[in-house]
Amino acid sequence: MTMVGLRDGWNCAFRRCLDYFPSLSDPARRSSLCLKLALVMIHLIYVGVLFLFDKDLVAKTKQQPYTGLYLFLFVATLVQYFLTAGSSPGYVLDAMRVANQADNLLRKTSMTMKQPASSRNVSVVFPVDGNQLGRNLSGNNPTTWTKLVMEMYPPGSSPRQTDRYIMPFLLRSLTCSYCNVLPPPRARHCHDCDKCVLEFDHHCVWLGTCVGQGNHCRFWWYIFEETGLCTWTGILYITYLKVNISKAWWIDVIMIFLLVTLSMCFVFLLLLVLFHSFLVLTNQTTYELARRRRIPYLRGIPERVHPYSKGACRNLYNFCCTINGTYSLEPLPSQQELDEKSKPYTCMDVLSCRCCC
Ligand SMILES: [Zn+2]
Ligand SMILES: [Zn+2]
Repeated sequence: MTMVGLRDGWNCAFRRCLDYFPSLSDPARRSSLCLKLALVMIHLIYVGVLFLFDKDLVAKTKQQPYTGLYLFLFVATLVQYFLTAGSSPGYVLDAMRVANQADNLLRKTSMTMKQPASSRNVSVVFPVDGNQLGRNLSGNNPTTWTKLVMEMYPPGSSPRQTDRYIMPFLLRSLTCSYCNVLPPPRARHCHDCDKCVLEFDHHCVWLGTCVGQGNHCRFWWYIFEETGLCTWTGILYITYLKVNISKAWWIDVIMIFLLVTLSMCFVFLLLLVLFHSFLVLTNQTTYELARRRRIPYLRGIPERVHPYSKGACRNLYNFCCTINGTYSLEPLPSQQELDEKSKPYTCMDVLSCRCCC
């Protein structure tokens, strides 16, 4: 078969594939799917090679629940990966939509209450699903999305404090020019997703989505499980090599090569888990840490002060116990709070656990 024939055959198969899966016509979706397949393949190769060469491991897995747990971790890690990749990072547009829905509901309810008793019996179903807005947004009218967001910016940006002639210019400068929404502080536009993301952390290529307020917790658990799986797999490789090092040289070469690459992955994952744990405890994002001097609301604040931190324990609680589908908007702390946080630590602060509470 010639090269031209091969190319035609490939194009034909590709077109048929697109007929069955029209969503794959988008190159971004295609590359995201290829990455997911590559990740699953990498996992299968590392674990598959181990079970292929280590016959003792297969026998042990059948007898001992301990090695059976290893397979459970393997499946759980892949499930966590797909759950994280499929979860929403918390788009600003969604938060705004939920805010409007909550507000419409409130308005219509108050209108119904004002109507005569005869018309009160008409039941009205509002399209509000389980994604109710968090405490911070409930009870605001639609025009207050702008007001609500503006009040979260540093003093001087608030509509109460600025001249009404300056407001349109201020709004224009803060509004995202790509998706045309007013993002609250800590949100940022992602050019890969083409949306503004609440508490934007980074765009993860492996997941094919952003990491933000909505899925940061899931992301942490994913990298934690991946680190655990990597460690356990490394231990099994070392155990195998210790016993079977001189049986067949080509198997040793494959196993040592995989062990070396696995070790590199382990170092990377461990550093990533530690880094994200630090971000969680200080209530920061990767973007804020990396671009601290360029972000207007962080400019001028001393490096060691984390403006959004509420103490390690509270930060951890908020991170772990956020209810799915709710959005939380955090205003920038007042100057007084920042001054309080900037104070140097004293012996009393250490005793009273100032960094934790
Ligand atoms: Zn945007
Ligand atoms: Zn993104």
